[in-house]
Amino acid sequence: MEVVNIPEKGRGMIATEDHKEGKVLLEEEPICSAQFSWGRKLGYSCCFHCMYPLEEPDQCIARLTQGQIISLPENSWTTNEYEKPSPVACPKTGVLYCSETCLKKADYDYMRLLLPNWEAVEEVEDLWRDMNFPRKSQAS
Ligand SMILES: [Zn+2]
Repeated sequence: MEVVNIPEKGRGMIATEDHKEGKVLLEEEPICSAQFSWGRKLGYSCCFHCMYPLEEPDQCIARLTQGQIISLPENSWTTNEYEKPSPVACPKTGVLYCSETCLKKADYDYMRLLLPNWEAVEEVEDLWRDMNFPRKSQAS
């Protein structure tokens, strides 16, 4: 891989050799991320830090179809590739994380700054939801 200037696009990374399909070329932590506020309010549960789903695939499909479908056919997502989460709740906020690692990383990266004003953070989120209603398809 090489970082180059690409005309009319700016700096970018290009492959300097062929790679096998599916090979991971780059992984990095996001600078910033947030779950869609309405999704959390309406019951979609994911890690507050990395957004890994905290509900199992069957729970997800049942929630999204309002109980019309309660299980998925067996496939790689429901068997081999899916790691069942063991959620950890922050003792200060009740916010859920997929692991102690995410809880500690969130605490170090930003929660120690947000916690003293956690009620204000929740008020801002409530205000945002008052002004931004989701379309039905965005509620998760
Ligand atoms: Zn996580």
